[in-house]
Amino acid sequence: MTSHVTTKAAPIPFIDIVGQRARLGSRIDEAVTRVLTHCRFVNGPEVTELETKLAAFAGAKHAISCSSGTDALAMILMAWGVKAGDAVFCPAFTFCATAEVVPYVGATPVFVDVLPDTFNMDPESLKAAILVAKREGLNPSAVIPVDLFGQPADLDAILAIAAENGLKVLCDTAQGFGATWNGRQTGSFGDATATSFFPAKPLGCYGDGGAVFTDDDDLVPVLKSVREHGQGVDKYENVRIGMTGRLDTIQAAVLLEKLAIFEEEIAARDAAARRYNAALGDVCTVPVVDPRATSVWAQYTIKLPHGVRDGLAAALQAEGVPTAVYYRIPMHRQPAYAHYPAAGNGLPVSEQLSGEVISLPMHAYLDAPTQDRVIAAVRRALGK
Ligand SMILES: *Cc1c(COP(=O)(O)O)cnc(C)c1O
Repeated sequence: MTSHVTTKAAPIPFIDIVGQRARLGSRIDEAVTRVLTHCRFVNGPEVTELETKLAAFAGAKHAISCSSGTDALAMILMAWGVKAGDAVFCPAFTFCATAEVVPYVGATPVFVDVLPDTFNMDPESLKAAILVAKREGLNPSAVIPVDLFGQPADLDAILAIAAENGLKVLCDTAQGFGATWNGRQTGSFGDATATSFFPAKPLGCYGDGGAVFTDDDDLVPVLKSVREHGQGVDKYENVRIGMTGRLDTIQAAVLLEKLAIFEEEIAARDAAARRYNAALGDVCTVPVVDPRATSVWAQYTIKLPHGVRDGLAAALQAEGVPTAVYYRIPMHRQPAYAHYPAAGNGLPVSEQLSGEVISLPMHAYLDAPTQDRVIAAVRRALGK
């Protein structure tokens, strides 16, 4: 392939929200206009309709929409009554919100290492972390497996360890909504699941949003109470400490339109990931998907030998190809979290990955010519 860049091509977007907007055409405008007409901006009819459709999509009994993925995680811990003295196990290689909600309720995050191929929670490290928590006098209470970059964590192993140790399982599928494990949607595993509709997530709205999924009938009224300032049967009776956790009606209206094309978008992302795998597998370590899983490719993340990544990012940037590094600092090295316990043997995989990973442009509107530009630029930068 002769691929010398003579004229400077337009920069490629990392995530193409404009392309999706164009495809949906006037449908979003009409949906938002309907809300502007009925004026029920909070708890409007679109919110209930969305919750019904989300639950059906996820194969969960209940979906409770809320204001963000972070609030979804927090609402679950609050509804369970997780408290000071409790240990909640979180992967160290994740977005900060997974662990951030644990100190909200006074509990202690305990960091767990991840696997080098899927980047998801390492079940052996979880066992080690449980021992560390007990040694420190903490009560092992819950585990938060994360479906990093769109691929479900090893739920078979984690659910088994959780059952043996009496841990509740809060699945963080902020990046993995729409993915499957053993043929079942994320959102249908564990005791409850949190997801996010931040615009850059696979199913995003036009602002902040999130949802909780659960099959637990008794948890639903508690979650709804937490979402509304801990209200009781009467709106102005407060039976617990809660929050303002509602999803805006306008965001629900946007999500209803986006949910209708979500399956097609997942298929487009998967096709793009396969193309990257085929074209880059000989020059870098391409993502590995567990045979029991499908991914929604929230990120397409490659691994390079230590010291190569930042040079690649600079070379791609010069050609108008954006990249991102998720995550440059693992949670147990973050200034606000470094004092919390971590699994016994240190977290060598999380530390190694934070120096090796880099994510390439990935979205449902990545057409073949644009993707070929990314591929050619990566190969050229790596001297292949
Ligand atoms: C984005 C994200 C969250 C938080 O979601 P927000 O809607 O941004 O609050 C939580 N966990 C993970 C793994 C995420 O990627």
